[in-house]
Amino acid sequence: MNKNILYRSIPKVDVLLENEAIQALIAHYSRDTVIEAIHMEMDRLRGFIGQCEDEEKAKMQIELLVSHIEGTVEAMHTPNMRMVVNGTGTILHTNLGRAPISREHMKKIVKVATGYSNLEYNLEAGKRGERYSHFEKLLCKITGAEAAMAVNNNAAAVMLILSSLAKGGEVVVSRGELVEIGGKFRIPDVMEQSGAALVEVGTTNKTHYDDYENAITEETKALLKVHTSNYRIVGFTDTVGIDELIPLAKEHDLPVIEDLGSGVLIDLSKYGITYEPTVQESIRKGADVVCFSGDKLLGGPQAGIIIGRKKYIDMMKKNQLTRALRIDKFTAAALELVLQEYLSEEKALRNLPVLRMITSPYEEVEKEARTLVRMLRRASLPAKIEVHKCESQIGGGSLPLERIPSMAAAIRPEKISVAELEERMRHLPVPIIPRTANDTIILDARTIEKQLFSVIVNQLKEFHVLEEVSLIGEAKL
Ligand SMILES: *Cc1c(COP(=O)(O)O)cnc(C)c1O
Repeated sequence: MNKNILYRSIPKVDVLLENEAIQALIAHYSRDTVIEAIHMEMDRLRGFIGQCEDEEKAKMQIELLVSHIEGTVEAMHTPNMRMVVNGTGTILHTNLGRAPISREHMKKIVKVATGYSNLEYNLEAGKRGERYSHFEKLLCKITGAEAAMAVNNNAAAVMLILSSLAKGGEVVVSRGELVEIGGKFRIPDVMEQSGAALVEVGTTNKTHYDDYENAITEETKALLKVHTSNYRIVGFTDTVGIDELIPLAKEHDLPVIEDLGSGVLIDLSKYGITYEPTVQESIRKGADVVCFSGDKLLGGPQAGIIIGRKKYIDMMKKNQLTRALRIDKFTAAALELVLQEYLSEEKALRNLPVLRMITSPYEEVEKEARTLVRMLRRASLPAKIEVHKCESQIGGGSLPLERIPSMAAAIRPEKISVAELEERMRHLPVPIIPRTANDTIILDARTIEKQLFSVIVNQLKEFHVLEEVSLIGEAKL
């Protein structure tokens, strides 16, 4: 096999540029991109020939050069971040983007974001405005707080609060509340970043009023309560509630800060979910500053919402850190839309996808799972497909023990393994992320929008996902 002849048979760049398919690519994309792809593919081809000992295979690759260039250019223009089907039954799946935003809200956000907006412009006065103005009044109305603002996420909120209120001083916190949230966010580390010193009191399972009282010194700047959103300490336990801390803090003229984590605005116990302290309750009991996530149980965009007394919120708005942590126009627009829904509980439950999924009655989810199973069966796939009782989870570090009865479509492939099926589903154009249990693929209907059922079925069929040989490779490009 003469490799020199093979190398010489690779078309030259100027010859390729005359090729009809390449010309079409240039017309559709740009000359520079196409030339970049040509060089990438040629390098790859030369490398392949250098290693290949099978002449026929090498010739085949040379013949495929143009189609590989097409594939590369198309891949360069295909966003890697895309929608996926969440079949896991975990409603606030942090890796899958936490709270979905409703289509109706997105339509409105598109209008704001594709043109100019009054993000920081006061239309009444005709001068500079505040980006929080669009949702501050709403937040105050819903929660009963005096003032409000928002930053990029709740971790940033905690940092900003501590930096504004306690920098150079001490903050007292219970050892039972030194939380690590996913992604290495640890309360003690955040406090260190903020320039406030942590004073731990009590023990892991028990903290008493006296512990707080004895820890207060001249250096104390605040008392901090952290809601242990992602774990529960059960058994021989004791914590000091916010209502007990308020009088103590008042006596020493200290603010009480509460990091609520999930930030639920509706008492979900009416819908069979374990009671979580609401934001309103925290304010009513007298917390001076409260923060929570925008994309956990609130069901909105990623944000860290901070509410509380005006004098403290004003200090935070003036903190230089705020400039580095500020929310963008998408978030500001989305927060206003989401919060507006909370003016009526019924509207919030109907129009916010997260709340709708959490409160959707079992009978309804069962009906949808049956529809999905019926559609899958009609596609005559080589698999055993049945409805399967399962349990959904809230996720996102909220209500860790909660299990919501649910119904799924269970798929047991006949020709391939469950592991293979799971991998293939991940590589579809609209990837499907399932849960696997007892050697079965489970698609929990609670977290799958009905509109996606046909996307699931069509893809499984079209790409021969359950056959011995699938067409997924082509889908991957
Ligand atoms: C989730 C959580 C955070 C972090 O919130 P993000 O919005 O994810 O940054 C902080 N504190 C508590 C108690 C939480 O539950």
